[in-house]
Amino acid sequence: MTGVQTCALPILKQYDILSKRLDETLKVLDDIQQRDDNLYRVMMNAEPIAHQTRRASMINKNRYEGLLNLEDAPLVVSATQKMDLLARQVYIQSNSFDEIVDLVKTQEDRLSRVPAIQPVLNKDLKRTASGYGWRMDPIYQTAKFHEGMDFSADIGTPVFATGNGVVLKSGWQRGYGETIEIDHGYGYKTVYAHLSKRIARAGLRVKRGDVIGHVGNTGKSTGPHLHYEVHLNGRHKNPMHYYFLDLNPEEYDQMIQLSSNHGQVMD
Ligand SMILES: [Zn+2]
Repeated sequence: MTGVQTCALPILKQYDILSKRLDETLKVLDDIQQRDDNLYRVMMNAEPIAHQTRRASMINKNRYEGLLNLEDAPLVVSATQKMDLLARQVYIQSNSFDEIVDLVKTQEDRLSRVPAIQPVLNKDLKRTASGYGWRMDPIYQTAKFHEGMDFSADIGTPVFATGNGVVLKSGWQRGYGETIEIDHGYGYKTVYAHLSKRIARAGLRVKRGDVIGHVGNTGKSTGPHLHYEVHLNGRHKNPMHYYFLDLNPEEYDQMIQLSSNHGQVMD
């Protein structure tokens, strides 16, 4: 009996360490899944994978019955369950990437048109931008849905077309000031507002990365910035999910933080 006792403690500890490492790995995988649903699958026009599908266990509970007689059964069962969950999620994620690779092969034209870069370079950003969602209106001090993303930058900073397309409108719009709208096809449209100068005229074909205008402070605006919108099939989308071509993982994390910034909407 004493022999078992002396062994039991290190094994217990070992399981504890294993369990913590599994938690960490599951967290990393969760981040990969977020990217998959919000970046890669959005980019390829594929539906996000349901949470239940990603997590659902293929295994019935009886599976763990054989472990229940063990000493420290709860710890062993818990670690085994985590391991099963990890295996399940990795399997689903791997299938998702296979699907995306197939989609990429058949959708080159669509890919060149989807808005997929930031409209203003990171190096030109003055301070935090403001994200999409419910925000305080800077002028009326009431809650209002911010339908785009604000990039604070100096007047004259170049503004880029974020995907190939045709300029739909180029002119003054109420509230938006000097504004350019690009039709990208496949249901996508982007809007660039408060410009100081419009370069692209209506009807012009543009490519991703072409300079279409300059950052300004025209229309209803509290300071020099670009207000940028992404529309899909007539509905506003969170632009944050459309910067996949020029962000590395660290920049993506920064962008998520920027995008959740509530205080600095410039309209
Ligand atoms: Zn705005």
